[in-house]
Amino acid sequence: MGKVRVIAVTNQKGGVGKTTTAINLSASLATYGKKVLVIDADQQGNTTSGLGLDKNGMELTIYNMFLGEATISDIKQPTCVEGLEIIPANISLTGAEIELIGKEEREFILKEELEKIKESYDFIIIDCPPSLNLITINALTAANTVLVPIQCEYFALEGLEQLLHTINLVKKRLNPYLEIEGIVFTMFDARTNLSLQVVEEVKRSLGSSVYRSIIPRNVRLGEAPSHGLPIHLYDPKSKGAESYALLAEEVIEREWS
Ligand code: ADP
Ligand code: MG
Repeated sequence: MGKVRVIAVTNQKGGVGKTTTAINLSASLATYGKKVLVIDADQQGNTTSGLGLDKNGMELTIYNMFLGEATISDIKQPTCVEGLEIIPANISLTGAEIELIGKEEREFILKEELEKIKESYDFIIIDCPPSLNLITINALTAANTVLVPIQCEYFALEGLEQLLHTINLVKKRLNPYLEIEGIVFTMFDARTNLSLQVVEEVKRSLGSSVYRSIIPRNVRLGEAPSHGLPIHLYDPKSKGAESYALLAEEVIEREWS
């Protein structure tokens, strides 16, 4: 087994495809035989429900880990995908930030927990919330790399600059080895010039980190979470399934570069 790679899927904008990417990249990596842990770090718990778990019925979630009440091994659950396990989250996570006020080393809680179980996985994928809160800081501190989904729309670049600034701050203060894993375009609509323009512009400034695989806007991708299934189980022949499989291949390729 290779060395584990911890990838934070992040972008402070909401609705850009973070959760969809976390679910389907994790599931696709598992279909290639990788051992994967996906961590739901968003109080919305959409990764948790999107993989078929009853988020409100969970006895233990990532919240309990942040409060030191349970370890990752206590909390992790199997999913409908072989080789993919999950650390679930739900609305209880909202309270964690306040409860951790004044706690020392509170940026390092997730990192320290992951140290204990890292060796069992090839990939650990963290789905971040759409804000720069303490939970996101924990994710960026624990991660080796950052994978940024960008929705093909006007203000995509503006958000990207802000995110690169945040990453640099985290590198200075908390995690000097943090790198960019890659940038993936989501909800691409080949019929609009705008989508094409955004792709060209980002490629000009960040060429080498942009994945060749572009995720199209695909109705089946939007439907799959309400069935609690990743796209490769919900509709294996869809464009969405195809594009996330290609993305997983590229992520695996970069493992060796
Ligand atoms: P985020 O986690 O960044 O807030 P989500 O992954 O939850 O974003 O996506 C926002 C919404 O758009 C969700 O309803 C999701 O199902 C839908 N969605 C995401 N990616 C696609 C896509 N490629 N095609 C169609 N719908 C998508
Ligand atoms: Mg999300």
